[in-house]
Amino acid sequence: MGNKKVAIIGAGITGLTTAFYLKKAGIPFRIFEKTDHIGGVIRTEKENGFVYETGPNSGVLANAETVEFFEDLGDLCPPEIADTASAKRLIWKNGKWVPLPSGPAGGVFTPLFNWKDKLRLLGEPFRKKGTNPNETLSEMVIRRMGKSFLEYAIDPFILGIYAGDPAYIVPKYALPKLYNLEQDYGSFIGGAIKKKREKKSPVEKKVSREIFSVRGGLQQLTDTLANIAGHENIETNSKNLLVEKGRDGYRIRFKDRQENFSHVVSTINAGELKQTFPFIGPKHWQNIVNLKYAKVTEVAIGFKKWNGMPLNAFGGLIPFKENRDILGVLFMSSLFKNRAPEGGALLTTFVGGTRKPHLAELPEEELFQLIKKELQVTMQINTEPDLFRHAVHRQAIAQYGADSEARYRAIADIELQHHGLYLGGSIRDGIGMADRIKQARTISADIINK
Ligand SMILES: Cc1cc2nc3c(=O)[nH]c(=O)nc-3n(C[C@H](O)[C@H](O)[C@H](O)COP(=O)(O)OP(=O)(O)OC[C@H]3O[C@@H](n4cnc5c(N)ncnc54)[C@H](O)[C@@H]3O)c2cc1C
Repeated sequence: MGNKKVAIIGAGITGLTTAFYLKKAGIPFRIFEKTDHIGGVIRTEKENGFVYETGPNSGVLANAETVEFFEDLGDLCPPEIADTASAKRLIWKNGKWVPLPSGPAGGVFTPLFNWKDKLRLLGEPFRKKGTNPNETLSEMVIRRMGKSFLEYAIDPFILGIYAGDPAYIVPKYALPKLYNLEQDYGSFIGGAIKKKREKKSPVEKKVSREIFSVRGGLQQLTDTLANIAGHENIETNSKNLLVEKGRDGYRIRFKDRQENFSHVVSTINAGELKQTFPFIGPKHWQNIVNLKYAKVTEVAIGFKKWNGMPLNAFGGLIPFKENRDILGVLFMSSLFKNRAPEGGALLTTFVGGTRKPHLAELPEEELFQLIKKELQVTMQINTEPDLFRHAVHRQAIAQYGADSEARYRAIADIELQHHGLYLGGSIRDGIGMADRIKQARTISADIINK
């Protein structure tokens, strides 16, 4: 492997997965993390019989890289696949939960969409495909499917993933699979059917799109990765780290020390890049550092005895149009084992997002009262919770809007000019955990093979 030695900035799932594959290939590395926590936004807490997440709650086995990643981890950290209840998703409409239809038959009679749009959907395969790569998700869905599909399927879906606004999100970057269905097959419906019929490679067949966590919560995964990387290779509390460029690579200045590397992999958010890489001129950053993030407060609510509505679903999402103050509720104790005491329930809810960011900053007591009121209405629960914990994420989810094309180009330019430097993390390639694992795999393979 020559004189390769890799600096990884950030000990989240992207940095730790990159380290995992470098370690497998025998390439030395060092992970620099500015906080004392390993795992990035992934963090699991245990309290009074509840096991709750303060960051991501579950991932999707959405690509071959994530499936293979768990195969590579083997018995060290097998995925826990969510209960079959997770197939059912609820959408809030006119004061009650309505199941999101999973097939054409349910789609005909669901009250979520109006009859005009349901009829219009028959013509979807025959509609012309879009030509504007920066078309927003709202524009695309209205053009192909109709407003009620936007409001009661796509909008809550985007709230659930991006805590964002479909009028800002650009599918080419934020939902490339959906964008490519239209571009490659001319239709969402026709494309989905044709793709299902296409011959799949053995690994593609394993991409089940099942929902996963791991036993005991997602931090078990990042803890396992940190153990494999070796704690002696992880430098926590590396605040104000600086990367300098030398003749044969990069020099990292951290704490009162410095160390040389052949490669640098950054996994940090856009706002910190400029100060971390001062040798890259300000003009190169202008299309990167203004990337917008959704602000979200995540709330775990536990009940030792549950007497609210039945929780036999993944959870419920609340369309923006319904004008409520929570984005949705995940039924965590229905999805994964041992998240709440027997007979109890663990729910996770979110407030804020790009359209109600002020709610993410509410003082704890106001937040508590707001959540209590929202759960009384939506979950028919009137008892006091036994657990109420919240985590504020001021830069929770990157919003891939019309500025993405320029950002991707700027990242590519910087990487081309500075050999051995990789600008990863959620500034590109998707925001879900499966996207992060895939990116880490791609970056590490590039370092290993070049
Ligand atoms: C509240 C929330 C809920 C989510 N829910 C889901 C979900 O249910 N499913 C899903 O698939 N995805 C979800 N996501 C997205 C997913 O969690 C993230 O995309 C993924 O975990 C990000 O991993 P990462 O390693 O790229 O970044 P991070 O986890 O952010 O890690 C980056 C690390 O870099 C460190 N760092 C930053 N700057 C510096 C610096 N200058 N020097 C050194 N270190 C630095 C940070 O401290 C951090 O530890 C959620 C995200 C949030 C915030």
